[in-house]
Amino acid sequence: MVRIDWLYSRRLHLALVALCLGVWAGCAGNPGGNAAGPASAAQVENPKNIIILFADGVASTQWEYGRYSSMVLRQQGFVTTDIVFKQGTLGLASTYPHGAFVTDSAAAGSAMSTGVKVVNGSISMSPDGKRLTTAMEVAKATGKRIGLVTTATVYDATPAAFSVHAKARSESQNIVDEYLTLEPDVLLGGGAEYFLPASVKGGKRKDGKDVIAAFRAKGWQVARTPSELAAATAPRLLGLFSNDDLDFEIDRDASKEPTTADMATAALKALAQSNSKGFVLLVENENTDTAGHTNDAAALMRALWAFDDAVKVALDFQRSHPDTLILITGDHETGGFSPTYAAKDLSSFASSNRFTVGDEHIRMLGRITMSLNMVKETLGSKPSGAALDQLLSKHYPGFTLDTDLRELILKNGALERNATYVPQNTLARMVSRQAGFYWGTAGHTPEPVVIGALGPGAQLFSGYQDNTDFGRNLHRLILGR
Ligand SMILES: [Zn+2]
Repeated sequence: MVRIDWLYSRRLHLALVALCLGVWAGCAGNPGGNAAGPASAAQVENPKNIIILFADGVASTQWEYGRYSSMVLRQQGFVTTDIVFKQGTLGLASTYPHGAFVTDSAAAGSAMSTGVKVVNGSISMSPDGKRLTTAMEVAKATGKRIGLVTTATVYDATPAAFSVHAKARSESQNIVDEYLTLEPDVLLGGGAEYFLPASVKGGKRKDGKDVIAAFRAKGWQVARTPSELAAATAPRLLGLFSNDDLDFEIDRDASKEPTTADMATAALKALAQSNSKGFVLLVENENTDTAGHTNDAAALMRALWAFDDAVKVALDFQRSHPDTLILITGDHETGGFSPTYAAKDLSSFASSNRFTVGDEHIRMLGRITMSLNMVKETLGSKPSGAALDQLLSKHYPGFTLDTDLRELILKNGALERNATYVPQNTLARMVSRQAGFYWGTAGHTPEPVVIGALGPGAQLFSGYQDNTDFGRNLHRLILGR
């Protein structure tokens, strides 16, 4: 046994050293992952292009919900599961950050971008304050073109962690300044407010700078509407479609904001130009996480479909560019999402008084026409009972607000200490009680995330890994070693 242990540790040590020398100089001493992927360097084909499709807050139950609801309500498949997960390789990744068990998006994104664990809230900065090399920085250094697309603000945690650095994710203005230095070829999403000076309507910058004008002066084409985005022809593109986050798909005004698929299409059109060394593109749907926080099953369903439509765009691109690797993942699970069976009411716990989530409950969700966030925004901070009832009967047909929940909403109370989105989590409980879509929390959970990979290099992402392995494998493939 001693000899076998010695051989094993010796082989592992050699593998680690080889990987550290070849791929990522900082991995020694990282407690995170297993470092070596399942395939040796000789077997791995390097992709020219990498498209990372990132559904924030999504783990296996959300994927299955997207697939099943798409089948029931859209009568169509869900390419994330049906093509990428089925035909590609499949992995799971642990998500814990430095010094905690439950991660936020900044720490998870940083680990997946740099291969190193950081503390919650930090954007690709090590716990001792060092700037860690991000995936997009590696791509840029190797001559690849880079793109960041999100339904959040473009300086939100995920796109920021994949590309730049900040001690805190809240340093929006600094992150935008870092983008101006890094020069992503494509930058699409929300968040115009930290590109514009406070003196301009919708602007929040305190230094008086107009960063949209600065990008334009450097040669970027600027799009502010879906039609401008569709018409864009330049190889470098800045698109900002809202002052803050883009709306949920369920609330979206198609004349003002593009879909995730529209943005993916425009990004690929721009990046595929003058593309001799390839590109790395991150396409994030953040609304899947936001819907998890508010426990909004109807908004989540449509956000998952919107994400899947963007995956279709990536698969089409891969068909004509087979040297492209598609990676699909999330950063953590949000909401402790639990479609289940439960008693219809508390009068009896016999199985005759119980229901299980079925197609008719998914159809109930399909008839909802407003996100819980938009309900809150529409009602204002002190809603009247009449306004609440009227809004729900219009946008939540078939649902009845029980007296206890109604009273809690009218007095601005919370259901629990981990139900901090008031009144969204309380309204979500109405949906849970009648449609069976329950949630455990308004926060994140440590459920491992799924990684689907299709294309050259996909085998590196199979099996049970740590989120830092994702970052290290990404660096390895970008560097082409
Ligand atoms: Zn979140």
